[in-house]
Amino acid sequence: MTVQTVGVIGAGQMGNGIAHVFAVAGYDVLLTDISRDALDKAIALIDRNLERQVSRDKITAEVKATAMGHIRTTLKLSDLGQCDLVIEAATERETVKQAIFEDLVPHLKPETILTSNTSSISITRLASRTDRPEKFMGFHFMNPVPVMQLVELIRGIATDEPTYKALHAVVEKLGKTSATAEDFPAFIVNRILMPMINEAVYTLYEGVGSVSSIDSAMKLGTNHPMGPLELADFIGLDTCLAIMNVLHDGLADTKYRPCPLLTKYVEAGWLGRKTGRGFYDYRGETPVPTR
Ligand code: NAD
Repeated sequence: MTVQTVGVIGAGQMGNGIAHVFAVAGYDVLLTDISRDALDKAIALIDRNLERQVSRDKITAEVKATAMGHIRTTLKLSDLGQCDLVIEAATERETVKQAIFEDLVPHLKPETILTSNTSSISITRLASRTDRPEKFMGFHFMNPVPVMQLVELIRGIATDEPTYKALHAVVEKLGKTSATAEDFPAFIVNRILMPMINEAVYTLYEGVGSVSSIDSAMKLGTNHPMGPLELADFIGLDTCLAIMNVLHDGLADTKYRPCPLLTKYVEAGWLGRKTGRGFYDYRGETPVPTR
């Protein structure tokens, strides 16, 4: 099946990045969110990010203008009914995602491929609540989407081969590289990354190191481009906590228990960069550790 029109649900950090790369690759993108403000911010951010790519000679001004022309926004989920491919990138909460698919499915044409950008939730379970589990897949982009090369492809138990092949071809057209993961909690990247981030929060919680010492130790000692706490703020602490809970519940192993300090930050609404405060305070000129 040829994919030309792509619906993106959720215009947050991931949704705007996904819309950006699909538009640059020549797809027609329809971006939706429950919030008009989120849609307006996403369009402004895509424009800024494309402009940065122009100034770094990664794309031409003409490519930018064409890409912007490929993106439309809507507040009505039903407008996505005629899309060839839908990518759900809303908040990492299963009830939110299930409600979205429930509302969307009656409007879809039969051949539409449905995907979720979930970081951790069972693809098989999400698929089973739709009318097309064979045309449902995990389509996991990395943050920031325009920069990161990898896309994880996750087949649910019922996903058919044409759907897998179609998404594999889409990833190639985007100029990215796919890695295929089985449908177990948090797949490959977050199964490995999140316990490390959670352990970094425990290291802080137990007073082994401060925010700065933990991040510099991991940057300079293991050659990671970002420290784990800086990275957690970048991902969003609510998303990190949600993924740890999925690992803990799904694998029933206490080694995945979320650090109470991570829970406390989320309860405070200190979710990282997106809310201006997390393990660092981003409200001034330079980020300042909050512990
Ligand atoms: P975010 O908080 O930045 O954005 C979520 C967006 O979803 C918000 O704009 C919100 O208004 C919107 N939304 C909520 N309910 C909705 C609904 N019913 N219909 C339409 N829109 C709705 O979150 P994010 O970081 O962009 O994460 C989105 C998804 O991508 C999650 O599943 C997350 O696990 C996954 N993901 C995140 C990262 C990351 O680094 N942040 C990386 C890979 C995958």
